[in-house]
Amino acid sequence: MAEQPLFNRVAFIGIGLIGSSMARVMRRDKLAGSIVACARRQETLDACLKLGIADEVTSDYALAVKNADLVVIASPISTNKAIAKAIAPHLKAGAIITDVGSVKQAVIAAIAPHLPANVHFVPAHPLAGTEYSGPEAGFAELFEGRWCILTPVPGGDAAAVAKVTEFWRKAGSKIETMQADHHDKVLAITSHLPHLIAFTIVGTADDLAEDLKQEVIQYSATGFRDFTRIAASDPVMWRDIFMNNRDATLEVLQRFTEDLTALQRAIRRGDGESLEKLFARTRAIRRSVIDAKQA
Ligand code: NAP
Repeated sequence: MAEQPLFNRVAFIGIGLIGSSMARVMRRDKLAGSIVACARRQETLDACLKLGIADEVTSDYALAVKNADLVVIASPISTNKAIAKAIAPHLKAGAIITDVGSVKQAVIAAIAPHLPANVHFVPAHPLAGTEYSGPEAGFAELFEGRWCILTPVPGGDAAAVAKVTEFWRKAGSKIETMQADHHDKVLAITSHLPHLIAFTIVGTADDLAEDLKQEVIQYSATGFRDFTRIAASDPVMWRDIFMNNRDATLEVLQRFTEDLTALQRAIRRGDGESLEKLFARTRAIRRSVIDAKQA
């Protein structure tokens, strides 16, 4: 007898890079009996059918979540509150609702209060991505060897958490569980600040005089190029991250600004020893990232 899929019916609300990669994993490993994709634009829905990652498509939230036993909210964070309100009256009793938002406290606050008591919310954040967007950009291997952080809500249903965990294991992820506020602090330093620095550097280069700007592009392989890849990330997604992880980002930004000022002073004073000490420390950190297979 054929094995039962993990979920009978899965609905994706938003199906871009992350949602479509999850749908591809579900297709590959036969984890979903059927998949319905929901997005605003017809071209997104057409792409899902063409790629074979959804059996049905709709722009109607109520229709999308009807009878779904897993609902994945994978749209920009700023849309989550309105989506939670719209789907709430139509959710099947016992359904599991999960999300993939890059910020957890604000997303939980946007979604949880609107859900009925007879469904189970399991917030999650896969630490995987590229600078590309949309359903065509996804691929099933995106999550392999990457962390997925679960931030269960108080009193959350253990069986629902176990099912979402099972999905992420099948996707090849390593699973960690954290409090939402801790998640937001960790991500502020590991992801949000580095992106902010990249956006700033590339913006500064773009503001340079025209002749210098040309040369920055020409000689970009000397370091600038790596920042341009990060700075090419989706503008809406990153706007939402900074608008929704304000406190933690401002705190690490303050620390960073102080450290940058200290470096500025070392350079001005000709204090090569301090510079070398810092660079030796940071080189060792790179080695530990490689050892942790996160390079
Ligand atoms: P994406 O590729 O831009 O996809 C977003 C999807 O949401 C599209 O299908 C879009 O289609 C749909 N959408 C937008 N507004 C909507 C609305 N009001 N109702 C329904 N669907 C809507 O974005 P992504 O990179 O997959 O990111 C999605 C989520 O994953 C974000 O919350 C982000 O924080 C999180 N995340 C992203 C990454 C990353 O590196 N990209 C990593 C981890 C987590 P239409 O435009 O046709 O509506």
